Amino acid sequence: MKRGFVKGLLASALCAVSTFAAAQDIKLWQVSSGQLELDKGWLTAMSGVGTKIKVPVAMYVIQHPRGLLLFDTGNNVAVSDGQCANYWGQGLCGAFNAMQTRDEVIDRQLAKLGFKPEDVTHVIYSHFHLDHAGNIKLFPKAKHVVQKEELRAAWWPEKFQRAAYVMKDYDTTRDYDFLQLNGDFDLFGDGSIVVLDTKGHTQGHQSLQVKLKNTGMLLLAADAIYTAENEAGVIPGITWNTNLSMQSIDRLKQIRDANRGQIWYSHDSKQYGEHNHDKPYD
Ligand SMILES: [Zn+2]
Repeated sequence: MKRGFVKGLLASALCAVSTFAAAQDIKLWQVSSGQLELDKGWLTAMSGVGTKIKVPVAMYVIQHPRGLLLFDTGNNVAVSDGQCANYWGQGLCGAFNAMQTRDEVIDRQLAKLGFKPEDVTHVIYSHFHLDHAGNIKLFPKAKHVVQKEELRAAWWPEKFQRAAYVMKDYDTTRDYDFLQLNGDFDLFGDGSIVVLDTKGHTQGHQSLQVKLKNTGMLLLAADAIYTAENEAGVIPGITWNTNLSMQSIDRLKQIRDANRGQIWYSHDSKQYGEHNHDKPYD
């Protein structure tokens, strides 16, 4: 009887350890797909309109015991080295001037960390806008993790939204291996990598919650929160649904506060500059 009880205790302790072990082995790098030069009003509605600013384009490489993951893939390789207008066209490059060198594209960022594109098992997309899903075609063998609603929006965008969806980024990917989600999803069932529904910026926008042993909980907001100003209450520019955008900002803040975590923004120069980019967070 007593023995059984001890055995049970041991088993549950081991179980807890193995769940924890997965979290221990995760490494996360934040890198940038060059910079975008844009009107500040695109990020903060009615604030700073007319002021041109340069912002990073955050992407993440995550090494997990069950795979090598990307969260977002940056601007398409074809806009590198001053070729923006040749691929995005004059109008888009006037609004979002992509300043990206070839070495800043996700495949070269992976190489700098010792990985090849073929090593990537999962590509998670916050959404399908041009600075986030630009390089899906570099990963034809991976599993692509995206909200089903986002795929529908990307393939048949509303007219007012269509400029930021560059269909030639993904026009031949219909038969890729998509994990089509409807809301939150715990990717490996261990609580370490959890997709969070943060719709509002687009119909199927999602953020990523990552639990790291030493760093704690990171909430990779992507375009749910472009910059610290949006977190402080300035309505984001470019939204599909402003009310849902504001709800998603609140949602991320509530999860951050409950877990003593951090929110990392997609396009905030100051915060990006404060982070480490050559060594991983763990
Ligand atoms: Zn963006």
